[in-house]
Amino acid sequence: MSNQISRMTIQRTIILDELGKLATHPTADELYRIVRKRLPKISLGTVYRNLEILSCSGRIRKIEVPGTMKRFDGNTDIHHHVRCVSCGAVRDVRGELAVSLPEIPGDIDGYRIVGCRLDLIGICPKCRKSSENST
Ligand SMILES: [Zn+2]
Ligand SMILES: [Zn+2]
Repeated sequence: MSNQISRMTIQRTIILDELGKLATHPTADELYRIVRKRLPKISLGTVYRNLEILSCSGRIRKIEVPGTMKRFDGNTDIHHHVRCVSCGAVRDVRGELAVSLPEIPGDIDGYRIVGCRLDLIGICPKCRKSSENST
């Protein structure tokens, strides 16, 4: 039993470690392919389960966009994302946002507002380049 627990801990630590190295906000499947290099016996289900546990406990952030695969982010600091509408890549928005966020009142509709997340959509440099080349 204790063996099983330590194996789970190692798996979770490696998943967290590999996710932390990536700025690409991988899907469970993408992360699975990377983690498998260090843990050849790990299953996609195990990776998925661990990602859910880690995001529930606030160690990682889950990015859910309807109609796309769930993505995961090892960076839990407040930051904004930009998603490419063409290839689906999700990157962090670097630098200051050119748009300023509206002043958010403390209470809206019975809620006490504690924060605001803004996700941008756009066309990534790679997709822009390939569309320019094809015209
Ligand atoms: Zn793109
Ligand atoms: Zn991010």
